[in-house]
Amino acid sequence: MKYKSTRGQVAGLSFSDALLMGLASDEGLLVPETIPDIRPDLDRWRDLTFVELAQALIPKFIDDIDPTTLHGLIADSYATFNHDDVVALQQLDGITVLELFHGPTLAFKDVALQLLGKLFEHVLGERGQRLNILGATSGDTGSAAIDGVRGQKNIDIFIMYPKGRVSPLQEMQMTTVDDDNVHCIELEGSFDDCQNIMKTVFADAQYKSTYQLGAVNSVNWARVLAQIVYYGYASLRSSAGAAFCVPTGNFGNVFAAYLAQRMGFPIAHLLVATNDNDILARFFATGTYARGEVHQTLSPAMDIQVASNFERFLYYHFEQDSDRLVAFMQEFAANGAASIGAPPDTQLMSSVAVNREQTLAAMHEVNTQFGYVLDPHTAVGYHAARNHLDHPDHRETPTDIVVVATAHPAKFPEAVEEATGSEPTHPTLEALKGLTMHRQALPCDIDAVKTYLVEQLRSEPRA
Ligand SMILES: *Cc1c(COP(=O)(O)O)cnc(C)c1O
Repeated sequence: MKYKSTRGQVAGLSFSDALLMGLASDEGLLVPETIPDIRPDLDRWRDLTFVELAQALIPKFIDDIDPTTLHGLIADSYATFNHDDVVALQQLDGITVLELFHGPTLAFKDVALQLLGKLFEHVLGERGQRLNILGATSGDTGSAAIDGVRGQKNIDIFIMYPKGRVSPLQEMQMTTVDDDNVHCIELEGSFDDCQNIMKTVFADAQYKSTYQLGAVNSVNWARVLAQIVYYGYASLRSSAGAAFCVPTGNFGNVFAAYLAQRMGFPIAHLLVATNDNDILARFFATGTYARGEVHQTLSPAMDIQVASNFERFLYYHFEQDSDRLVAFMQEFAANGAASIGAPPDTQLMSSVAVNREQTLAAMHEVNTQFGYVLDPHTAVGYHAARNHLDHPDHRETPTDIVVVATAHPAKFPEAVEEATGSEPTHPTLEALKGLTMHRQALPCDIDAVKTYLVEQLRSEPRA
């Protein structure tokens, strides 16, 4: 399998090159040159465990790592999960919850970032290269990325987070890791400042190549690939075909579901659930993608206006026509809005925005009715799913509705307590309390960050 960019200037990359490139060098996103049709495999795949399914599916997209090695990397990635079959399905009345939060940092991002870490380690080792990861986080990504690469000798990871604006638990999850390849930067600024610094550093081509900078954000193709597996897994366990309801921020998670559907898994519908940051809900209603103001909500990992992975979806919407895509993205960059002309066909994919009261009510209701605790992100999805039960399409051809649970409730104790009256806990988080935090405070200044990076790098960078 080879990889190409949505913007049309990059093609013929191997998987390993795509892995290391992250964002394509023409600023587009990498996608596979073809989407494999797995319908002939479905009967054989139905009873596989999660790891077995990953080992059957992922090699269809990777032909430059030998299969035995790849199987081992996949098995090792998921050995860190705290559940027999990596992910879990919970039945709540007419709705199934797909729990993806049994990894080391208790968010679905572990499913992709544990594998990404192992893939980096393997490919860098083979090539005798090293990589310095620079990332910005508003919470969950930082800890999951750190956990994926901690202790690896070919990688250093630098994660910037806005001082005082990530939760105390999230800060502990990042800064109590004591491996010396992990560097947490507490930046005097907002999340946007962190992201702007990251973008500016990456835009300095000379610095980027001298210090072998790499990224782990959700535009990395390997993250999308890893996420396809659980949609396949859950859809094969539904009798009537699955409708997935996905709490969405950067569109990475739901884009994996879209690919799973295109590969031939029995997926009937995809419901994109957003919080008050409703750019996607407005797009699916009107066909216009228009930037709004960022609102702070109870589901901070979804407080995003411009969804970086949406470009991949648009590319397929435009039937892989890079010229149309580039024109759309240029219009959006220039005006903060662009339109596809009319509302998209919502048969396969639709979107709903869920507000604060609805989110709290969903957490309250599920706790009272089923004694089950949702985190605020999953609650956004649950509310959207409940609504969908009454949708005419669903009444006509009922499907199994699956809500994707993206985080363990104990990661967001304040919101859960507000909704349910009691504070959730988890042993992994309890164990962090009292550990030493390792972090470097830096001013909101790009040169301060660049200098810190250079000072910390242990070995001489290769030119
Ligand atoms: C990152 C995250 C999301 C959003 O996922 P996207 O792939 O950005 O759409 C939702 N919930 C939680 C808990 C997250 O950490």
